[in-house]
Amino acid sequence: MKVIRKVDELREYSIEQRSKGKTVGFVPTMGFLHEGHVSLITRASLECDIVITSLFVNPTQFAPHEDFDSYPRDFEHDYNLAKNADCDVLFAPARGEMYPEGATTSLSVGDLAYVFEGKYRPHFFDGVATVVSKLFSAALPNKAFFGQKDYQQTLVVKALSRDMLMGVEIVVCPIVRETSGLAMSSRNKYLTDEEKSKAKILFQSLVATKEFIESSERNRKKINAFMHEYLRKLEILKIDYALAADAYNLSEPSEFEEGMDVVLLLGTILGKTRLIDNMVVKIPVSNYNEDERFQAGLK
Ligand code: AMP
Repeated sequence: MKVIRKVDELREYSIEQRSKGKTVGFVPTMGFLHEGHVSLITRASLECDIVITSLFVNPTQFAPHEDFDSYPRDFEHDYNLAKNADCDVLFAPARGEMYPEGATTSLSVGDLAYVFEGKYRPHFFDGVATVVSKLFSAALPNKAFFGQKDYQQTLVVKALSRDMLMGVEIVVCPIVRETSGLAMSSRNKYLTDEEKSKAKILFQSLVATKEFIESSERNRKKINAFMHEYLRKLEILKIDYALAADAYNLSEPSEFEEGMDVVLLLGTILGKTRLIDNMVVKIPVSNYNEDERFQAGLK
């Protein structure tokens, strides 16, 4: 596995590979890799000839009070994991490569940046869109691989690639979890053992809410109330949001329609650690008989 630190060198490498007819898969990360990241690299290596993984803790997606300085970093650990996962290139640029002296240009995502996670981190998605756009310009990938773990981010990067005519196919990969159900995250390192064991309530609340919906509940407010009530069992958990929305555009109709994909989105803080999670649930198609379905206009 090659390590590249310069944007120009990465671009040249990618152009060379693509000119040989090879497809380039790209996995952007902030490093401190875990099995979730590895699953993206593995998927990329199944779907593409060449895999580039980036390690870059992006300053513009952190607010001043957030954990940019303390965000965990371990190059040797990341190198070994990426190499074992069949990554071809590890791109690890310095800050000045990604944000050259005097850089002032940034991207603005629009409404999607200010709801759900964006309501609590209003700087975040513009920072993500800006750095992903820079990384795409450097890596020139055919496909880029993102985790469902950051659900709203997957919608933002799909919109980015579409709106800015980037032509990069965005592939969304499933959430990798600990055996307890806790979604893997570099930030789990901040949790104490006790907090880690309590944090499984996020996943448990999603599973319970999925069952609640599958027992034929479609009313959004009732679904939200159920999720809140479940999470409130862990009194020390601060709930920023626990909300159901249309999985495609995050709209919030009062009743979800049958057959529709709904995403349950959680943003919480446990101790000092911000934890997010989500699950996509299909609203069941009701068991009307054929005549009833016809009369209800569902046929
Ligand atoms: P990060 O390093 O946290 O910015 O994450 C880099 C990429 O890995 C993003 O696309 C994340 O959604 C993805 N990712 C992080 N954790 C997981 C996980 N537990 N399962 C799947 N993908 C993940």
